[in-house]
Amino acid sequence: MSGERLFISLVCPECGAELKGGAPARVFLCMACAKAFVMDRFPESMRLIVLKPTIAPQAKIFHVPFFKIDGRFRFSAPDEHKVRAWSNMNPLRVIYYPAFPNLRNLYSEDLTFRYAMGLDGVETDDERKDISFVDGTRAPGNFDTIARLVWLAHLDRVADVTGAEAEFTVSGVDYCLVPFERAEDGLKELMLGLTLKGFAELAPNE
Ligand SMILES: [Zn+2]
Repeated sequence: MSGERLFISLVCPECGAELKGGAPARVFLCMACAKAFVMDRFPESMRLIVLKPTIAPQAKIFHVPFFKIDGRFRFSAPDEHKVRAWSNMNPLRVIYYPAFPNLRNLYSEDLTFRYAMGLDGVETDDERKDISFVDGTRAPGNFDTIARLVWLAHLDRVADVTGAEAEFTVSGVDYCLVPFERAEDGLKELMLGLTLKGFAELAPNE
């Protein structure tokens, strides 16, 4: 063994372009075809979407990946009070689940809730030119379970979910790049204007 690393260049099965992604990536991107390839399941792909910031950037933008999970949640419980309390809650819309190294679970879970409530009618950047991004390092296959657990955590805020029967049916998953910038005390995401304190380890792959 020479000790040198072997680099295998990954190319898009549709257009032949080199796929983009750094060393730790498990998800690789073709910007031309707007597709995200999960290595464990290559050549299967997801649609790649890039969100346009709604907040004017103050620094260089880089993008942070999320799995954007669409679908339908159903629940029932023997206790009518609970069902009524849950029915009065604002429903979650699309679930944005982090595809990046989730080192500060609390923040990213909170971001998932904030996005589920607040990221409606956002515009996409269909040019996708010269964008830098954080590598997707997770490749979860159980999106229905993830979405169901996010929903249960949401419902649990108004009434204990013990005894609830819940089911989430996924109708589609996209790979979604969300614009961020570096702020003095952490990272600022440019959709709702939230600053995530710390998070210094989250950096684009250049
Ligand atoms: Zn391609």
